[in-house]
Amino acid sequence: MIRIAGLGVSGAYLYRRLSNAGFKVTAFDPKREGFYLPCGYALNENVARTYLKLINLEVEDYVESRAHNIIFQSGNREIEFKSLGLCTVDKNRLLSDLLGNLPFERRKAPAERDVVTVDATGISRSILGPIGNDFTMHTKEYLTSTASHHEFYFRYFSKGHGYYWEFPLGDHFHVGAGSDVLQLINSSLNVKGSLKVASRNIRLKPALQDIFRENVVGVGESIGTVSPITGEGIMPAMESAELLFQNLTKYENFSELSSNYSTDIIKTFRRYEVLYSLLENARKGKILKLSNLIRYPAVREDFRHFGINLTLYSVAKTLIGK
Ligand SMILES: Cc1cc2nc3c(=O)[nH]c(=O)nc-3n(C[C@H](O)[C@H](O)[C@H](O)COP(=O)(O)OP(=O)(O)OC[C@H]3O[C@@H](n4cnc5c(N)ncnc54)[C@H](O)[C@@H]3O)c2cc1C
Repeated sequence: MIRIAGLGVSGAYLYRRLSNAGFKVTAFDPKREGFYLPCGYALNENVARTYLKLINLEVEDYVESRAHNIIFQSGNREIEFKSLGLCTVDKNRLLSDLLGNLPFERRKAPAERDVVTVDATGISRSILGPIGNDFTMHTKEYLTSTASHHEFYFRYFSKGHGYYWEFPLGDHFHVGAGSDVLQLINSSLNVKGSLKVASRNIRLKPALQDIFRENVVGVGESIGTVSPITGEGIMPAMESAELLFQNLTKYENFSELSSNYSTDIIKTFRRYEVLYSLLENARKGKILKLSNLIRYPAVREDFRHFGINLTLYSVAKTLIGK
């Protein structure tokens, strides 16, 4: 028997994989029906395709808008990158299809010591408990019918204080901002006529060394599988859930399970530790340090994973002139 606490992307995906493979699972999530998820709904459809196929879903059925050129603004300059599959999806419908008719209890997961419990509770990390020196940013996001850009648009705040975004979503847009400085969020968001507004913190510090305790093992944002520089967390959550699924099919013994899963998580998400140290440097005003250049491959890999073809050439072209 396996118990899953939390049915966001990571918990719902894992639940579907486990029940298709014949595992006995109980699942809990107190979220009320129709709850509007605070998320930009952006992902790389080429990455999503691989995982959704494993549960007989097609990513194309959920795509709302595809990116062509992606605009990054820094000061007065705009840099354009090509898309490698960045799109927005109907995340609410995707989540509902991940779960299908699988039963779950609409309440917080109770404490029990005799079953393997998966902490898929995201930012709250309700079951694993708090992490020392955690780092999160505040976010606020609007669903709107207009936006000043009709392409995917990012404007980074200086010194690693987060960014403002506009993402097309079918006939609508998600317009939001994330920062550790509330004033930056409020001053950048000048939204009129919003249809919905949602807000929560996002964990940007990877907790890859802190992913299990007693009979509890974490997946997704509870263990910090969120890019510290782009905030991408949907596909990383699903990827971590797939790693846990693979290990659950191999190991019955919890200590073997946790140690092998740990190794897989560290191998897959090591770049987040590199990127978090880059974020820390930026926050200390050390972004121009030469040592940051050696982190460029991790930056490039991370943007490409999100579906953005970041190239030094595009950056240089904009800074030096076309
Ligand atoms: C404003 C914003 C915009 C974002 N935009 C993007 C984006 O465009 N693209 C992208 O890739 N990522 C984005 N992210 C990040 C991404 O949304 C998350 O990292 C990802 O959804 C995490 O998935 P998860 O399954 O780990 O956790 P969640 O999706 O947060 O799910 C956790 C679930 O656990 C439940 N829960 C909490 N406590 C308990 C408990 N005690 N018992 C049982 N259940 C519990 C909650 O109700 C929730 O349903 C964004 C995040 C924010 C905040």
